[in-house]
Amino acid sequence: MKIHFIWAAWEKLYRLNYNIPPMGILRVAGMTPPDIDAVFTDEMVSEVDRNSDADIIAISFLTPAAPHAYQLADHFRANGKYVVLGGTHTTLMPEEAGKHADTVVIGEAEGIWEDFISDFCSGRPHPSYRSPHLPDLGNLASVRRSLLPKRVYPYSNPVLYGIESMELSRGCTSNCAYCLVPSTQGPVFRNRPMEDVCREFDAVSRTDGILFFTDNNLLGNWTFTRPALEALVPHRKDWIGLMAPEDAARDPVRLELLLESGLCGIYGTVFAITGNEPPSVIEIRKRNLRRLIEAGVVVIATFALGWDDHDQTVFERTVGFCLEAGLTVPEFIINTPFPGSRLFRQYRAQNRLISTDWSLYNGNHAVFRPARMSAGRLEEGYHACYDLFYRSVDRDKALFDGFRDRVLNAMIRARRKQKETYDPPGH
Ligand code: SF4
Repeated sequence: MKIHFIWAAWEKLYRLNYNIPPMGILRVAGMTPPDIDAVFTDEMVSEVDRNSDADIIAISFLTPAAPHAYQLADHFRANGKYVVLGGTHTTLMPEEAGKHADTVVIGEAEGIWEDFISDFCSGRPHPSYRSPHLPDLGNLASVRRSLLPKRVYPYSNPVLYGIESMELSRGCTSNCAYCLVPSTQGPVFRNRPMEDVCREFDAVSRTDGILFFTDNNLLGNWTFTRPALEALVPHRKDWIGLMAPEDAARDPVRLELLLESGLCGIYGTVFAITGNEPPSVIEIRKRNLRRLIEAGVVVIATFALGWDDHDQTVFERTVGFCLEAGLTVPEFIINTPFPGSRLFRQYRAQNRLISTDWSLYNGNHAVFRPARMSAGRLEEGYHACYDLFYRSVDRDKALFDGFRDRVLNAMIRARRKQKETYDPPGH
């Protein structure tokens, strides 16, 4: 028997050519008994074989990839394949996904993927599998990294430099209106046992790639993150994490540990700029960002546009903030009410949703009616932010084709410099 695991592409990241391995589906591959053949296609980096000889096609996807994933699923079913859909969007919209699948896997797969495999092998698979509770993260199946083609994840190539992803925990105690984590992973932090974390640190430290922590709120879970990072220090491993950059810089003691453990890049949202903040608050926020940049951290700061207190002046003010803070690779996105989020429910209740074409839910389109400008003006302003900030270069080239190299090379340079100049306490 053979399973073809597919991580379905969505337009924006595909154009970025971002070679971050999708860990969730690779961990599902790791839960699969070893006597079952497995192949994997990450559509972000390679074409899927539509003539796959696998018995089961297992597709995982995010919301903007949903229309494409459904088209793939329909194609494979028409060719007699058994199709399983899972991942974030399937979890949020299981009935919709079920129209394109033989089986849907709802929620985290630990415990239920093994049930599906067993039922399939005995000829009685169910149309849906849902775990009755959020799984414990002890003894997680290994991420099946052996399925990653070296050609597209060139960890050993110091020029191209790959990224190795890993998680410490799941869930989040905050309840941000736009976020899917509370509804998909639960409203509390579930941590992996520290011995499992350390074992994985040993494994990933043998590769050359930058480590990417996929945890959505590393700093919010600091009582667990702190000892984990302390354990990472001896590995001298460069890492990138998702966090609000300003939060990373605010506490000097915490920043010191972040740097000592190898922090070289942050990808995260900068709190929305409303125009109502006192100048002193704006100055503190800029100073926090500068502190990170001066410490050698590449800050890929995301600015969401289109909040209800944003008027047409927000675009120029946001770009001005980026320039004055010294940011080099800001990302601008249009606020997006993903299905399953509080924001989606709010806009739907207010009759403000313009479209539920999920392919538009990628941060490039205004899919709702903003409060203080038209949707068209919001999209124009979003593009204007890129034009204003990246005015000296072709925007698409700078941001999409060249984004990866620009960011990664900058991280490598920054990290080298940091290693040369940073003198950790006690050394
Ligand atoms: S945006 Fe971050 S802090 Fe807010 S709920 Fe999501 S993971 Fe938690």
